[in-house]
Amino acid sequence: MKIIRNAQEMREWSYSQRCAGKKIGFVPTMGFLHEGHLSLMQIAKEKSDTVVVSIFVNPTQFGPGEDYETYPRDEKRDIELLEESAIDILFLPRVKDIYPDEYRTFVSVKGLDSHLCGASRPGHFEGVTTIVSKLLNIVCPDSAVLGSKDAQQARIIQQMTDDLQFGIEIILGAIVREHDGLAMSSRNVRLTQVHRSQASALHRGLRSSRKVIESGERDVNRLKAGIKRHLKENAPDGILEYFEVVDWESMTPIERIDGKVLVAVAVKFGNVRLIDNEILEF
Ligand code: AMP
Repeated sequence: MKIIRNAQEMREWSYSQRCAGKKIGFVPTMGFLHEGHLSLMQIAKEKSDTVVVSIFVNPTQFGPGEDYETYPRDEKRDIELLEESAIDILFLPRVKDIYPDEYRTFVSVKGLDSHLCGASRPGHFEGVTTIVSKLLNIVCPDSAVLGSKDAQQARIIQQMTDDLQFGIEIILGAIVREHDGLAMSSRNVRLTQVHRSQASALHRGLRSSRKVIESGERDVNRLKAGIKRHLKENAPDGILEYFEVVDWESMTPIERIDGKVLVAVAVKFGNVRLIDNEILEF
């Protein structure tokens, strides 16, 4: 595996691959890699001839008081994992090269960030779409593989690449979970033991909501009441930030379930914020 830190070098490498007729698959990450990230790389390998992974903890997607400084990082371990996964290129840009002092340009996708994580983290998705645009411009891939763990993010990036005609295929990978159902996340290591044992309640709650919906329930308010009760009993230390059902296309909350919907939850355990979701279609 080759490690590239410089944007120009990254661009030249991609150009050479494209000239050789090779399809480039790209997996953007913030590092502290886990099986969820590795599953996306596997998809990228199957869909393309060569795979680029980036690791960049993007400061512009963290709000004031959020965990940019304490976000888990372990470059050495990540490099070892990527070597084992036979990835071709690790792109590891430096913050000052991505955001030099005179940096002024931001990309924003209107309307899809008013709810869910967009409501609780103002400015977060503008940071995400800005860094993803920059990475796509530097890496010039044919496809990018994103996790449905961050479903609103994936929806927004899909809209952005369509609207701005990036000409890149966006592929969604399924959520990879721990043995008890907790969605894998780099932040899970920061949970206390007690919070870790309560955290699987998110997935169990979503799974039972899904079962209730599949058995015919369409009323979102009744689902909300059910999940609140479930979390109160099974994750008493968790502070529910939101539980929402939104229309997949518009990312706006609905009261009756119909068509393709995202059932999403966010819970805070101390200062660790966890999200999980189910994408359902009727
Ligand atoms: P992050 O490093 O958290 O920014 O995530 C990088 C990519 O990995 C994003 O597309 C995430 O949606 C995806 N991802 C994170 N956790 C998981 C998971 N448990 N399963 C599948 N994909 C994931």
